[in-house]
Amino acid sequence: MSPTTLANAFSSDSPATAVIVPGSPALQVSYQKLSADVRAFQQQLANAGVSAQAAVSIALPNTYEFIVSFIAASWQRAIAAPLNPSYKQSEFEFYIDDLSSAIALVPKGAFAQDAAAVRAARKYNAAIAECYYNGTEVVLDVKEAGKLAGKSAPLLSAQPDDVALVLHTSGTTGRPKAVPLTHRNLLRTMKNIQGTYQLSPKDRTMLVMPLFHVHGLLAGFLAPLASGGSVIVPLKFSAHAFWKDFEEFKANWYTAVPTIHQILLKNPIPSPRPEIRFIRSCSSPLSPKTFHELEKALGAPVLEAYAMTEAAHQMTSNPLPPAQRKPGSVGLGQGVEVKILDDAGDEVAQGKEAEICIKGENVTKGYLNNPTANASSFTKGGFFRTGDQGKKDVDGFIIITGRIKELINKGGEKISPIELDNVIAQHPAVSEAVSFAIEDELYGQDVGLAIVVKDGQTLSAGELKTWLTDRLISFKIPKKIFFTDIMPKTATGKIQRRLVAEAMLKKEQ
Ligand code: ATP
Ligand code: MG
Repeated sequence: MSPTTLANAFSSDSPATAVIVPGSPALQVSYQKLSADVRAFQQQLANAGVSAQAAVSIALPNTYEFIVSFIAASWQRAIAAPLNPSYKQSEFEFYIDDLSSAIALVPKGAFAQDAAAVRAARKYNAAIAECYYNGTEVVLDVKEAGKLAGKSAPLLSAQPDDVALVLHTSGTTGRPKAVPLTHRNLLRTMKNIQGTYQLSPKDRTMLVMPLFHVHGLLAGFLAPLASGGSVIVPLKFSAHAFWKDFEEFKANWYTAVPTIHQILLKNPIPSPRPEIRFIRSCSSPLSPKTFHELEKALGAPVLEAYAMTEAAHQMTSNPLPPAQRKPGSVGLGQGVEVKILDDAGDEVAQGKEAEICIKGENVTKGYLNNPTANASSFTKGGFFRTGDQGKKDVDGFIIITGRIKELINKGGEKISPIELDNVIAQHPAVSEAVSFAIEDELYGQDVGLAIVVKDGQTLSAGELKTWLTDRLISFKIPKKIFFTDIMPKTATGKIQRRLVAEAMLKKEQ
């Protein structure tokens, strides 16, 4: 029988290795032990008073205690709310308040240090508990009981339509929105990802993305776990440790944002190369240039996928060989219906650009406490509006051309920043290129461009413009070019055009 909640999503009596945490010595945990640890932690959550649909904020980095507390919260019918452990106090306050968190889980020592997460939790009267692995089990050490005081709850059983996870969108285009995802939503994505990449118990996944976003949590962890394979969970990504762990624990695939692929390309790759079944790229546009460099350097098929928080991660992906994969395209709907719809919610002709809209069991029912966004997020046919603009090619492959809110509108001409970035990235002296809208008196908006020049190379704005003249129609040539040493990015390596624009314009003043 197919699993219906995270409580039966993976085997609980298998001696096979579920999780490997590198270190000296490395921690290797079987499915059996993982299940026992989760059950014991669920009991501790219940004893602390965590009841049905209470929000559990998890401010822990990628660790075994994150994994155990996340799964245990979902088994207890509570809502896991992972938070970036590096947030500043005001950010923790925003998220803890937004979800009225019942309890905040923090790393060992955080309470004594009066860490930002601790101060934020106290401000909203959430209980505060340190969480750590003592070599035998994961401990929940309640330091302040907050609003949970004296209310021990029984052990509960999760239901398919309980909310298991709330994550906020990345806030690329505005204020982050809270997205509730049910067990049903998560299981559907896990199944879709398993199917797309034919994940099996033989697979060994190298987790590089943070578990506090859907990319790492669903594609890098939950889907491989539900497939019976092993997941290698380092504390954080570094190019050197990546290959060391990859070889030592015999990983055979990984999923990451393009920034991480680029970092790996800039660093030495082991020789002989490890056997890699495939490489998945997701969450930001992968330029065809990086696609080709990666396939050449690592000798494995690169499959670009397309995902969003509201879809519990994956919507589309390029398929495994022998099926065709296409650089510059995010592939085909994978267990998710994908249509290109106009403002009225009607499908446009093949090849025409409009909004990418999706439907599937993975998609959230709507944002928390945000009736305005919910009213405009679904079409008359019940499709979710992604806010991304795109088209289908002759084979039905989806090509993303930009975010609707980020398209550069130059006097009515819509310019896709992704298209510009890809063209400019082909210049031999350019290491990174990010284009964005700047205000313009005549056209309303014009094209701004931030570039990082490769080490040891030189390039002037004039030279780049001349080079672009042969490659872009004149109205798409950037009006203003900003040179920068580093490109501002989010914690997960995402480019936020709005922030890049702000940073460049501020530097200019
Ligand atoms: P917000 O919704 O708050 O503005 P966000 O959309 O960045 O932030 P996420 O849910 O983390 O929040 O990201 C989803 C978005 O990431 C997608 O809507 C799309 O714009 C972008 N994205 C995901 N995968 C790809 C990809 N392969 N190529 C291009 N863009 C992608
Ligand atoms: Mg979004």
